[in-house]
Amino acid sequence: MDWLRRTHFALLDSPWFPLWIATVVFVLVFLRYLLFAGPAYLLCWKWLRKRLHFRRIQLKFPKPGRVRKEFLWSVSTFAIFGVMGCIVFACARRGWTVQYERISDYGWSYYVFSLILMVVVHDAYFYWTHRAMHHKSLFWLFHRVHHVSHNPSPWAAFSFHPLEAFVQSGITLVLTLAVPHHPSALGIFLLFMTLMNVLGHLGYELYPKGFASHPVGRWITTSTHHNMHHYRGKGNYGIYFNWWDRWCGTLHPDYEETYEEVTLRPRDLQPDA
Ligand SMILES: [Zn+2]
Ligand SMILES: [Zn+2]
Repeated sequence: MDWLRRTHFALLDSPWFPLWIATVVFVLVFLRYLLFAGPAYLLCWKWLRKRLHFRRIQLKFPKPGRVRKEFLWSVSTFAIFGVMGCIVFACARRGWTVQYERISDYGWSYYVFSLILMVVVHDAYFYWTHRAMHHKSLFWLFHRVHHVSHNPSPWAAFSFHPLEAFVQSGITLVLTLAVPHHPSALGIFLLFMTLMNVLGHLGYELYPKGFASHPVGRWITTSTHHNMHHYRGKGNYGIYFNWWDRWCGTLHPDYEETYEEVTLRPRDLQPDA
């Protein structure tokens, strides 16, 4: 593997470095997408389709062509993530980033704290950029592609117009410039982000009944929360927590009621065909 390491660093020092970074980022995020969306789709939408039907948020299924388009838009998003990778790398070269090399520089307590901080910062970043993209002057250009899916599949997790993809990838730049962290913590955060994003587009509610009205659960988003965002077209803007939605009055008033309806169906409910 030493040749790979040497080739990697040689390419980083060559004039080809933007293309090399964009390619590496593209491959990594594409594999990450397959790793999470693939099993989620196969398990819920194929293998356990009948057994899990009682937990399907919208009982109908989208047309196969829609799911294919979600996949293709997601792949185009990863090319934009590659561009952001180059921007982050250029900032790191100029010494503008706040990543540190040894975990002992800040200690393990800070390491855990930095993970929580990245989630909280991303939650605020996502809520406000998402809400801004719902403004009528931005929606058609930035966010319409994501909302063509009224009944999303896990493959819709990164189904964005390139402009939205650029905005979404901006969180990596914000975190590398403003939140001191070890690179491995950023890696864990990005895996967590992908998992939650796929869960939000799963189309099935896996959390237990009563979760959305539980004193703790009411602050955490669920698959139903984001699915309602897709079929209603607005409201429920948060990604991990719904405190911004609750504080700013953008949570659907019937969110908890809808959650209860989805989680209280009889287990033997079967698909029509
Ligand atoms: Zn939206
Ligand atoms: Zn979505």
